[in-house]
Amino acid sequence: MDRVKDSKTRIGGVGKLFGTDGVRGLANDEVTAEMAMNLGRAMGSLRKGRIAVAIDTRISSFMLKNAAIAGVLSTGCDVVDLGLAPTPALQYYVKTRKEIRGGIMVTASHNPKEYNGIKFIQEDGREFTREMDEESEKLYFSKNFVKAKWNEVGQVYKDSCYRIYLDGIKDKVDANRIAKREFKVVVDCGNGAGCVTTPQLLKELGCDVLSINSHPDGNFPVRNPEPVEANLSLLKKFVTEFNADLGVAHDGDADRVVFVDENGNFVSEDVALALMAKYYVEINNGGKVVTPVSSSKCVEDVVIEAGGELVYTAVGSPVVAETMIKTKAVFGGEGNGGLVFPEHLYARDGAMGVAKILEMMASENKKISELVKGIPKYYTIKEKVPCKDKIKLIEGLKEEFPDANFIDGARIDYENGWLLIRPSGTEPIARIFAEGKDKKTAEEIFKIGIEAVKKILQL
Ligand code: MG
Repeated sequence: MDRVKDSKTRIGGVGKLFGTDGVRGLANDEVTAEMAMNLGRAMGSLRKGRIAVAIDTRISSFMLKNAAIAGVLSTGCDVVDLGLAPTPALQYYVKTRKEIRGGIMVTASHNPKEYNGIKFIQEDGREFTREMDEESEKLYFSKNFVKAKWNEVGQVYKDSCYRIYLDGIKDKVDANRIAKREFKVVVDCGNGAGCVTTPQLLKELGCDVLSINSHPDGNFPVRNPEPVEANLSLLKKFVTEFNADLGVAHDGDADRVVFVDENGNFVSEDVALALMAKYYVEINNGGKVVTPVSSSKCVEDVVIEAGGELVYTAVGSPVVAETMIKTKAVFGGEGNGGLVFPEHLYARDGAMGVAKILEMMASENKKISELVKGIPKYYTIKEKVPCKDKIKLIEGLKEEFPDANFIDGARIDYENGWLLIRPSGTEPIARIFAEGKDKKTAEEIFKIGIEAVKKILQL
């Protein structure tokens, strides 16, 4: 009974509670206090131990956090309330503190302010795998939760994860080398969870820091939490006016980071991913890099040139992290600012990305724009269209492109580029990616994609 009700209300309507990135939806409408409490009960029943909980800056985060905590406590598990923290800071805390058996993050990441969500964390700091999400979902719908006796319900403890997290990052970069350069950095936290950690990290790395949009505000008054170029005009302006070496911006929960060069130019997420991949293959004298099928060919090009190997996966950071472990990869990431550093945490980490790019600039003694010049140029078109019926889209794509690779959506490779059409795991949209060696090729490939989608979805 509940399953039918919830699957209808869940964003995307695919009949599953968990998407590619936990549970997401409109706050207090699709993602409710009752849902958060039952997710808390599911988490406590599954992990049977102390659970750490953190939130981003969203207005609905307190409501969902308190409901989720109540659910966990009812199963007899204790909770450590970390308050406001980036997702990777919670993950790093869970990984490092041996007594913590799991984590709950209340965030909708880059989604608009009306949204919120809940993400489960494993005891090693990774996000729940798809199988674990399915297990939680089964328990959620069965309501077969552990129920503690009145005198055995859990208690709430408070702690902070900032110090352990920032020290963890500083231990894994050449902090002295970075400090010697006295970089000027402008940071745009987008009023999200990065406010409490990234400006401080930059200061501790000896940078001259100018922070903008860096007080917590769930209304996101200046920009949307998604750190795409269109939302970063203020950052670009301040980088040039401040004569900064680098501009950095996070999404709402600071697991992603994007960069602006010293001339105020946006560094595309794929180029940043390629830069980091190249750096890691070079310092490791080879090795595997893991990335989803949606990443630019420039990543594959630089990894192969540096003597490494590229492994493609479906889209979503949990599958990238899992594949990295299986293949003993030296680095992994997604072309949306999600960078995964295996020596630190098998999950996207925005602040670690900031520290590593500064290390790269310091050790190679180059400006960020000079580093970018070393990455092959591709022309990419990314568009999204409304798509409520994901099954219809996939079925249609199988008819339109029978020879495509269906590792995730449909990927079609052409001589001078490729096309990917895939339904989003977190929003009722389909994404169309087209890439070519030049603008004309990309446009031609994109036209094939958009026409097929319009035909299938009758747009
Ligand atoms: Mg995020």
